[in-house]
This record gives sequence, C-alpha cells and structure tokens, in this order.
Amino acid sequence: MHFKDDLPSKSQIFDYWKDHLDQVGFLIDWGSPACWACGFHYGTKYDVKRPDVGWDKILQCWNNIPLQRCHITPRSLGGTDHASNLFLMCRECHDLTPNTNIPEIFFEWARRQNSDAREFSKILVALESFGIGTAAVEDFLWVMVSEEFRSWMRGKFGLHRPQSKYAPISSRLTTATTVGLAVHYWRIHMTSPKWYSTKTRPKKWLAA
Ligand SMILES: [Zn+2]
Repeated sequence: MHFKDDLPSKSQIFDYWKDHLDQVGFLIDWGSPACWACGFHYGTKYDVKRPDVGWDKILQCWNNIPLQRCHITPRSLGGTDHASNLFLMCRECHDLTPNTNIPEIFFEWARRQNSDAREFSKILVALESFGIGTAAVEDFLWVMVSEEFRSWMRGKFGLHRPQSKYAPISSRLTTATTVGLAVHYWRIHMTSPKWYSTKTRPKKWLAA
C-alpha cells in the first residue's frame, strides 16, 4: 500500500493475466468488469467490450474499473510487484484473501469465491440477528424482492458509507438495512401474506 504508485497499472496486470488466467484455473470473461475471484460485477458503466474502439482503449478501460491490485504472495513474504504476482479483485476479496507464500493457497481460495453466495450468507446472518431462523429464509427472500416491499421501504433507509474496507463499492445499502426493513415489514403485514409474487423470486440466491 505504501508504494502503490510503483505497482503495475491495472491494465498492465490485466494484459499479463489475460494469457495466464486459464493456467491457474480461472475462466474469466476479460470483457467483463468483475472481480476475478468472487465475480462481483461492476455493471455496464465500466463495460470494456466496446466494438468501436481499439485494443489500446479496451486495455485502458481496465484502469477505470474499481478493482484493487492484490499481491498473490505478499511483499512481506518476498512477493514481487511484478504483474504475475498481482491479481485484480474487489475490495472485499482483497481484505479476505489468504496471506501466505504458497500461491496455490491463494488460487484455491480465489477460485471458490462467489459474490452471490457471500451476499446470501450475509442475509442469513442478518436474519438471525432479527430472530429469523433458516426455515423462513426463502419467505424473506421473496419479501425482499417484492414490488410491495420495495415501494414500502422507499424513504425509510439511507446509503451507508463504509467505515471499513469491507465493501466492494463506496456506498451501499447494508444487508442489515434491507433485512431489518423486510422483517419489520413482514411483522406488520404477516396477517395478509400476499406481498410477494412468484415471478420475482430471486433464483440466483436460492441456487447458492
Ligand atoms: Zn471479489
């Protein structure tokens, strides 16, 4: 961190890894601006697949994506600042990554990260904080994506500026905010359970 400016740029790191990612077991769409470990996606705002521009411009786009340059083997354990020892990850993965001088451990961990599964586990923990057990999780997922709940929660929450680095983006709804509101909403409306519709069921969470 102290010598951040000495590190290769994100585009240089990408330029190196685009030919090496498959060798360490990663199938990554290089045109997708996502965390290489968990797949957290930054959306079309940073879309690097622009057919109207040349390779140089596409390469430069990687510098704009808010991914972090993470040492595979940390500098304190003899890791270098070469692109081959740097990996592009979201801030949350960067904070959670194992620090050893055995790259296999890093890659094994990174291959198993999944942003959807991670968000789902945060929802489970938050639900538990409000006294909701795992048996009711599916019901609450339905509540949280329902139009009725979404419109009810409007004006009842604020975006949270992270106090730590444990957030992939700068400001967001904390899981406890959404879950807390959903539980509160459910307690108010539980007598007439018509607040969710089957077509908005969040498949990606349920599959996790
Ligand atoms: Zn990540």
